[in-house]
Amino acid sequence: MKKISHIGIAVKDLQSSVAWYRDVLELEFEGIEEVESEQVRVAFFRIGESRVELLEPMSEQSAIFKFLEKNGEGIHHIAFETERLQERLDALKEKGIRLIHETPKPGAHNMNIAFLHPKATGGVLMELCEPRQEKGDGSEHGHVAKDR
Ligand code: ZN
Repeated sequence: MKKISHIGIAVKDLQSSVAWYRDVLELEFEGIEEVESEQVRVAFFRIGESRVELLEPMSEQSAIFKFLEKNGEGIHHIAFETERLQERLDALKEKGIRLIHETPKPGAHNMNIAFLHPKATGGVLMELCEPRQEKGDGSEHGHVAKDR
C-alpha cells in the first residue's frame, strides 16, 4: 500500500458542498467527473498527497443514494492506493476476506478500483485503487469529464 488515496464523502448537493470545501476549508478544487456506471457525480479536492472525494448520486440506483437514505451525509469510504491491484485482491481473497469486487473496475480520476466488503473490515467501507496505465485517451472508460 502506498498512501491514503482519498476519503469519500457522500453529499446531497454537490454544488453547495463543493463551495464549502473550496471557500471555507480552502482546499484546491480539481474538478467534477461523472461515473455513469456508478450513477455518481464526483468532485475532487487535492490535499497534499491525498484527496477528498465528494460523491453525489445521479439517480436512485446509485449506492450513494441508498447510503444517504440510510445514514445521511458523511464519510462513505476510505481509499488506499496500491500497486498491482489484482494481485492484492487475489491475496485478500485467499485470506478469506469478503470482496465487493474481485476484479478491478474503472473508477473516477483515472483509477482502477475495487471495494472490500464492510462486513470484512470492521464496518469501514474500504476501496483499493491503482492509477490506470496510460493507453489511448481514456475515453473508452465511459467517463465524462466536466469542467465547471
Ligand atoms: Zn473513492
